[in-house]
Amino acid sequence: MKVGILGAGQLGRMLAIAGYPLEMSFSFYDTSGSPSVGFGDILVDKGGSGAKLEEFLNKVDVVTYEFEHLPLELTQKIEKLKPLYPSSKSIEVCQNRAKEKALFTELGIPTAEYRVATSAEELAEAAAELGCPVVAKSVTEGYDGKGQAVLRDVADAEQAWSSINHDAVIVESFINFSRELSIIAARSTTGEVAFYPLAENNHHDGILRYSIAPAPKVSTELQQQAESHIKALINDLDHVGILTLELFETPEGLIANEMAPRVHNSGHWSIEGAASSQFENHLRAIAGLPLGNTAANKPTCMINIIAEKGDKEAILKLPYAHLHLYGKEERTGRKLGHVTVQADSYEELVWRVKNVATFLPGSPEFISSIS
Ligand code: ATP
Ligand code: MG
Ligand code: MG
Repeated sequence: MKVGILGAGQLGRMLAIAGYPLEMSFSFYDTSGSPSVGFGDILVDKGGSGAKLEEFLNKVDVVTYEFEHLPLELTQKIEKLKPLYPSSKSIEVCQNRAKEKALFTELGIPTAEYRVATSAEELAEAAAELGCPVVAKSVTEGYDGKGQAVLRDVADAEQAWSSINHDAVIVESFINFSRELSIIAARSTTGEVAFYPLAENNHHDGILRYSIAPAPKVSTELQQQAESHIKALINDLDHVGILTLELFETPEGLIANEMAPRVHNSGHWSIEGAASSQFENHLRAIAGLPLGNTAANKPTCMINIIAEKGDKEAILKLPYAHLHLYGKEERTGRKLGHVTVQADSYEELVWRVKNVATFLPGSPEFISSIS
């Protein structure tokens, strides 16, 4: 099967790596103008005008994507010509925080109380109504905490509005969560659904630093609650492929933050940590193949390599660490790779993760909070 991927970053690259053993081949359609896949057949169409679309579509049997912030019209055009999985419906909802939150509410999935504001005055009104602190986020386009501001006071509205600099923002009550979790599910063209165990995610400055899977201290009830939320979403969207749901854990239960219609950074642990990774299961799902085993084989931690690559040789010498580099140049705040660490117990895992972190500049201070 020839798979076309919209986007040519690390997620597309890891999809291809997972797909070659299934006798799949890959073509990438890059609208950013700076592909980082580093291999395969890449067509660059900066801005996504669709100039090289026909050439791309003629090469492939099925189209998928690694990024949901694509021009919706482009994806609607594509699905008239070739199967697009997940469909443009998933893109439409997941690229718009207002639509996403409305769907959570419609399906009875708890989420932060929210308002949509289209001016600094409306933002101030929303903050006053919800009660500060609140989090304001651009309705479209944001990732890695970009296009967001926390308002400690209604008087912060003017400053927050201009710093976000978008036509519309979503204003959410600030959730005092005990930790962040995510659940990843796969749904095939046949309707088969599989769930990965919850992962625990730790962010700093809005960027994911490390994930632990299975998340420690998760009861069967909590896992089931997460599965029932994502199942409602995946079926309602008639979604085919991987869907990720980010959650806040609170004493009152799980609160949905946002979702992504694609493989997710919090699922990279599954490359070594599960018999079938999220990348492989995404491809199995869109190809209508049986889904693979999603169970974790050991306590696993994925540490992101951000901004600087660190001491590659030292990490390669560690018998329990797997290094993944994405072929990207070093830059502040940029995800350049990740390291997967496994152990037989969480205690040993923490020790190993702290050791790996000593070879990654900037990481030790975040990892030291791991207990
Ligand atoms: P991603 O890279 O995950 O796509 P994003 O830019 O889309 O990130 P969110 O996931 O919505 O942004 O927010 C980034 C982080 O900010 C969250 O992981 C969480 O730590 C914090 N955050 C977001 N919303 C809230 C909230 N309502 N209350 C408290 N913290 C929040
Ligand atoms: Mg997001
Ligand atoms: Mg997020």
